[in-house]
Amino acid sequence: MKVALRDDDTCFFTSPDTLERVYHDVWDRLPVCLATVPFAIGYERKGIPAEHWHSGVSFPIEQNAALVPFLKTQLAAKRVTVALHGYTHQDYPTGYEFQAAPDPERRVREGLAHLQSTLDTSISVFVPPHNALSKRGLAAVSDAGLNLLGSFLSFRPSMRAWDSHTLQNWWRVRAYRSTSGRSKADQFVYPFVLRYARHAEFGCHSLIPGTTVESLMAGFEEARRAGGDFCVATHYWEVDQTLKDVLLRFLDRIERVPGVQFGPAEALFA
Ligand SMILES: [Zn+2]
Repeated sequence: MKVALRDDDTCFFTSPDTLERVYHDVWDRLPVCLATVPFAIGYERKGIPAEHWHSGVSFPIEQNAALVPFLKTQLAAKRVTVALHGYTHQDYPTGYEFQAAPDPERRVREGLAHLQSTLDTSISVFVPPHNALSKRGLAAVSDAGLNLLGSFLSFRPSMRAWDSHTLQNWWRVRAYRSTSGRSKADQFVYPFVLRYARHAEFGCHSLIPGTTVESLMAGFEEARRAGGDFCVATHYWEVDQTLKDVLLRFLDRIERVPGVQFGPAEALFA
């Protein structure tokens, strides 16, 4: 059983200290997939200076002269991998970036090229800002050949273009939902990779304020019983001592489970 860890929102506004503080005793056990924004535009959240919440100014990641060499060092040490997390991560009045931006194709293409060359790494995974994707946003990611980390279990034709694999995936998810006793309205994370013609998708379990070790264990045990894999997703900027304790206690418990293998998020798609 593969277990991976994803952390969102590394960007120009991230200081190496904050990542170090959260992951210094984690990333040698389990590499962290940093879902990174190449040209961040500020919005209201902890860790972004208030003067940039509404400035609309885009900050290329390389303008943070401390962060780029830090990330390169951690990449070389295999403590982190990098995924593409949108282009600017800006919110539009009509939706999140990959629902509402007029040019998702350009954003994926240029964001990917920029992040790969700036950090001198190869990227195979896309994490949509706010886990939100329109049909066109999904097509842009798929056309770029990037795999998706996030839960996208909508099969409505208004939400995704169907390809030769879609019907089978719809059946698999439907069968899993009914054997686990869930109705259509119940939220769940499907614990297997869903492969499509040009990309694959895998859902993550959130670690956010309020998440407990017990709730992560329940998701983990369900995935394990089904023979699936598991990925935790969090945001470094909201990991306080309480959340950090939850993460460490969860890792301590599952590390002892026979067959569990910690690895990079990219390996979920192998
Ligand atoms: Zn984000």
